Amino acid sequence: SPKGPFRNEPFTNFHDHANAHAMKEALVRVGDMLGHEYELVIGGERLRTAEKIRSVNPARPAQVVGVHQKAGAEHVEQTMQAALAAFEHWQYVAAEERAALLLKAAEIIRERKFEFCAWLTYEVGKNWAEADADVAETIDFLEFYAREALRLAAATTPIQYPGEKNELLYLPLGVGAVIPPWNFPFAIMAGMTAAAIVTGNTVVLKPSSDSPTIAARFVDVLEEAGMPPGVVNFCPGSGATFGNAVVEHPKTRFIAFTGSKQVGLEIHERAAKTQPGQIWIKRTVLEMGGKDAIIVSADADLDQAVEGVVSSAFGFSGQKCSACSRAIVEEPLYDVFVERVRERVAAIKVGDPVENFGMGPVVNRGALETILGYIDTGKREGRLIAGGKKIETAEHGYYIEPTVFADVDPQARISQEEIFGPVLAISKARDFDHALEIVNGTEYGLTGALYTADAEKQRQARLKYHVGNLYFNRKCTGAMVGAHPFGGFNMSGTDSKAGGPDYLLLFTQAKSVATRL
Ligand code: NAP
Repeated sequence: SPKGPFRNEPFTNFHDHANAHAMKEALVRVGDMLGHEYELVIGGERLRTAEKIRSVNPARPAQVVGVHQKAGAEHVEQTMQAALAAFEHWQYVAAEERAALLLKAAEIIRERKFEFCAWLTYEVGKNWAEADADVAETIDFLEFYAREALRLAAATTPIQYPGEKNELLYLPLGVGAVIPPWNFPFAIMAGMTAAAIVTGNTVVLKPSSDSPTIAARFVDVLEEAGMPPGVVNFCPGSGATFGNAVVEHPKTRFIAFTGSKQVGLEIHERAAKTQPGQIWIKRTVLEMGGKDAIIVSADADLDQAVEGVVSSAFGFSGQKCSACSRAIVEEPLYDVFVERVRERVAAIKVGDPVENFGMGPVVNRGALETILGYIDTGKREGRLIAGGKKIETAEHGYYIEPTVFADVDPQARISQEEIFGPVLAISKARDFDHALEIVNGTEYGLTGALYTADAEKQRQARLKYHVGNLYFNRKCTGAMVGAHPFGGFNMSGTDSKAGGPDYLLLFTQAKSVATRL
């Protein structure tokens, strides 16, 4: 059972010599394990396919991190049958036992934290602190959902009808597809999987093709922690073939997806079509993109606002759904803010995450090209004040300079479309009302921040700043499990609030039972 109430896993201080040493050692150890081949895991059986997925290090793409199998549409039936068979048993396992599996997995990961950080550094290019935050969030999700599952299992109806005993039982749904992105390839992948299984469902896990290795390592952890075969089936594969086929399967009961708007909407449509033999409405949990903004009010603390905007915009090269891609600055502070951001961004050091540079590469060649395309657009739409180019390295890493455009029209493409890279657009607002109008003027609504000490502006923002996660006087990235349940409005998704008290309900159906006394 859980040891005490939930507490966020502390971050590692890499200024501490012992921690830095442990991280370097882990990078060497994991470095020796790069390039291994991983198998599909279906019903506990290891399988190989003819086609492979190669996961590479974005800082040196010639370095293969892991070779993976590629499940195709032909593997769907076998995987579904394995997950359905496991569900027959897993759905009746006591909540305590299922929660214990998550707690055990958290313990294993905590003990080998630096090793998991190193995998993230190699596989998606996270520097040490970014990798550590991803691992800590993974542990948090496991610890938090274990406790939440126990809370749900003990829940009763708040009102008891006279002469009866009234219960509300939260039952699992069935077999779910879990489809995570590559940008929090540990935390989001493990979080969605953990929520599904701790409530008694079984899972077909299709990791992102950019980050299957960390997912394979997580499945190993679950097995080490005692997970029965078939509860999580590990199937790297292409989204368009395997992913689509799992979403369409009549026995798929739910889909937990985090990723882009385009793919999320496609899954939504595909899941809505009833297939022959399907006897339920598929549930979809879809968390998608963002075009997140920070308002810098005329009265803001300038140092804090500059730091908050720059770290939200360029942490992990801007590849967070919560990243600040728009700074909206009230007129009186505009010119000085732009100048201060220019100076601060010039101090960002870009380089190999293994050596712990402030900013690393973007995830793959496709992302590199898309982002450079947006930078070209930005050169027509705004005034380039920092960056603007690809960085060439001997290893052909996918590096882009941290890039800032000022004087950007809020309707410009770089103010409206998710770029998902190190590109910030700054726009001027006439006053606070105008700033609010601008931040709400996209199709998204994920995170947002406001720098002001003015209580009236904060009050207005509470009511009118239309985002799922709002922050005052701090950056708009770095949501903490428990404290900041996470999920967005409008085209940012179904507002599932991962890491919050309502999240597990999405993976259950409630049965009311009344007993006449
Ligand atoms: P993505 O391209 O949408 O891919 C996400 C996942 O969907 C991957 O596993 C992908 O597999 C799979 N997929 C692709 N096409 C599919 C299809 N037709 N059917 C089923 N699955 C399919 O997103 P990404 O590039 O990995 O992640 C970045 C995006 O995620 C950004 O938009 C970001 O804002 C968003 N995000 C949102 C949140 C949030 O909480 N709101 C958090 C993190 C990230 P393949 O890799 O094989 O294509």
